[in-house]
Amino acid sequence: MAGASGPTSFVAFLFAATMALPSSYAEYKIFWGDIHGHTSHSDGKGSLDDYFTYARDVSKLDFVIVTDHDYGNGKPAWRMPQETWMLTQDKADEFTVDGKFVAIAGYEWTSQAKYWTDVGPNKPSERLFPGAPKFYNHKNVYFPTRLDDIFSAKDTASYTPDMLAAAVRKQGGLIQNNHPDAGPEGQDQWDYSPDHYPVITNTEIRPDTLRHEGKTYPLDSERMVREFLSRGGKTGFVLGSDTHEGQPAARTAVLAKELTRNAIFDALRHRRNYAVSHARIELDVQINGHRMGEEFVTADKPAITVSVTGTAPIAELVIIRDGSVLSRLTPNTPQVKLTYRDESFQQSSYYYVRVVQSDADAHGNPSHAWSSPIWAKKGL
Ligand SMILES: [Zn+2]
Ligand SMILES: [Zn+2]
Repeated sequence: MAGASGPTSFVAFLFAATMALPSSYAEYKIFWGDIHGHTSHSDGKGSLDDYFTYARDVSKLDFVIVTDHDYGNGKPAWRMPQETWMLTQDKADEFTVDGKFVAIAGYEWTSQAKYWTDVGPNKPSERLFPGAPKFYNHKNVYFPTRLDDIFSAKDTASYTPDMLAAAVRKQGGLIQNNHPDAGPEGQDQWDYSPDHYPVITNTEIRPDTLRHEGKTYPLDSERMVREFLSRGGKTGFVLGSDTHEGQPAARTAVLAKELTRNAIFDALRHRRNYAVSHARIELDVQINGHRMGEEFVTADKPAITVSVTGTAPIAELVIIRDGSVLSRLTPNTPQVKLTYRDESFQQSSYYYVRVVQSDADAHGNPSHAWSSPIWAKKGL
């Protein structure tokens, strides 16, 4: 990992440690949620009641989105029935109590290469579209208001990300890119127009390396998202448990003024959200008074203000600029407040902050938090 560290960078940090956070900090509260999970309506376990009850009563989430696959549980030619979608919306409405708990109806737009190619002998073909297979990966879609039916990856009107985004935008909904480390299965996942950045607002980001039951899995999500950003792509960061066991957990934090469905959507729409892998790390990042998810023009050098309250000592805090580490700190305290002024700022850059705690989840992984990026552009 490159970048400044050691005593010299501490000087840069310390000058600003006494600077107060902008007063707008008090304007928002952190609400914890999960934006990805399945029930027995696709390939998960349990009912919608089970899912929402677990989120509210066991994981004590503020909000949760349910996202069953639009293709169901693998049966050929299966597509989520309209009645399932209606039930999903009914249950989300039933569980939502403003100020206490917000449940949101969504689904996982699940694009599969077999929709373009014949499946092997003795298996029913699912060829739906002409031409070479596309590898669009999976995207979660969710709406603040009711909708008669979903826009499926199996429908000729919504089988590309651009067509999906155009349809979802008209309904006021939002889309996120799921598990971008899908390998070849995801090679076309970024294939959508910049016109749709306001509706495909976020991407799931995961640890570069994940341990599970004693094995180590390298996951390239963060690198792939950085490459998208470095090509000029716009996305914020979320995480979802992708639970198939009916056990949603706190993985995405939003900064919202109140706990209502509209306020949660407003945060996700403006990328005023960040991702955590396990512990509920509180993280605020601002640059010259602008919050995560914002783009702004400045004549000044960007001053990156970071405030962290961990649940354990923070082992590492890095500021990433344009895909590489601008500064790295090893504070070893649960609370960190700092400002770093980017004296080498040139024309335009994106920045985000990644925090790693010295703790471990049930599989031995340290807790991470990633702020959504902030984009700064030099101007008058
Ligand atoms: Zn998926
Ligand atoms: Zn999923």
